[in-house]
Amino acid sequence: MSHHFDVLVIGGGVAGLSVAWRAARRHMRVAVVDPAPGSGASHAAAGMLAPVSEATYTEEPLLRLGLASLARWPAFAADLREDSDLDIDYRADGTLDVAFGADDLTALDELAAFLDKLGLPAERLTGRECRRLEPMLAPSVRGGLLAGEDAWVDPRRVVRALLAALARRGGALVRSRVAGLETDAGTVGGVRLATGETIGASRVVLAAGAWSGTLEGLPPEAVVPVRPVKGQIMRLRSPSPILRRCVRGVVHGSSVYLVPRGDGEVVVGATQEEMGFDTRVTAGGLWELLRDARELVPGVTELEMADVVAGLRPGTPDNLPLVGPTTLPGLSLATGHYRGGVLLAPLTADLFLDEFLDEADGELSAICSPLRFQEHR
Ligand SMILES: Cc1cc2nc3c(=O)[nH]c(=O)nc-3n(C[C@H](O)[C@H](O)[C@H](O)COP(=O)(O)OP(=O)(O)OC[C@H]3O[C@@H](n4cnc5c(N)ncnc54)[C@H](O)[C@@H]3O)c2cc1C
Repeated sequence: MSHHFDVLVIGGGVAGLSVAWRAARRHMRVAVVDPAPGSGASHAAAGMLAPVSEATYTEEPLLRLGLASLARWPAFAADLREDSDLDIDYRADGTLDVAFGADDLTALDELAAFLDKLGLPAERLTGRECRRLEPMLAPSVRGGLLAGEDAWVDPRRVVRALLAALARRGGALVRSRVAGLETDAGTVGGVRLATGETIGASRVVLAAGAWSGTLEGLPPEAVVPVRPVKGQIMRLRSPSPILRRCVRGVVHGSSVYLVPRGDGEVVVGATQEEMGFDTRVTAGGLWELLRDARELVPGVTELEMADVVAGLRPGTPDNLPLVGPTTLPGLSLATGHYRGGVLLAPLTADLFLDEFLDEADGELSAICSPLRFQEHR
């Protein structure tokens, strides 16, 4: 083998790059292998760091992970800025969930009560109070819940910063596809590239997002239970900011959000479709997003269309990530982050390092352990 690393990460999305950069900061010899870093789900993501939403508050383990990671974001963002000299548009002005009908208002009340029970700050607002905070909101908005601690980043900037920071900390980036794992007597000792070249490593971390289940060379019991969940999302451009914080709501039974960026961009997302590895942007998908976004903020239809993409979220059977060692010695996972990979990036890196350095925090790493699926087989 031509090279040997302490840690070799397959996949240069926000998950793999975070693990690699944090490991390089701890003076490990690190390489990331990816033919097109940052081109996966991390390119599509809105970047909300919002652990609490209607979808997740019923899923307490996921909420615990999200809160633990949100608490790590300020330091993670500061370190990233220091190591990259790049701005990631980190903002912490909160998320405003809004409601239109009686059912939605009841759902917000329930969410507010749940947050209160957990001691999480959230403020229940009338429609008028919502519009005072965000004057562009539709007159039909009847109430809202402000999660003031929520934050957001621009994931494309995060990927650029992670790549720069990794390089600055001496990490290697290999622009190639991994074709399979190299194993010796049942222990993973490196990877084989599509070019035929092999690279050795003491630990291989599979962080290939929605593609993590497609890697060859894994024994059947170690195959990664990840599936692609398609999300279409658009970026609009506004000459002046139309929102100060993230705004979310449920319209026609599906949830839609708007995320403002510092440069006037507004992100509108996202569809959730079980379509395999299909990344076509469809007229119907965009129509739904615009139709729903217009209900929240009628002015969006005036904005310039800047970008539309479809990304593939790495979904798992229980919606929880897969981070930690596998039954295969030498192989760890950092994948399966589904709808929260940007939020969960700092926690993912910490869980990996804790495991590698034998400092594991039992509770959070148990929630993410890949063994929960492998042991059942
Ligand atoms: C529309 C949309 C909106 C989202 N919004 C949010 C949000 O607001 N907040 C949030 O926290 N999360 C959000 N997410 C989820 C988030 O994007 C993902 O959870 C996260 O990006 C997953 O990161 P990853 O690094 O695991 O995967 P990816 O970013 O998909 O990266 C995987 C990488 O692996 C590489 N790869 C694949 N196969 C191989 C191989 N054989 N060899 C080498 N490299 C390989 C690919 O090239 C790719 O770069 C959103 C997702 C979508 C689709």
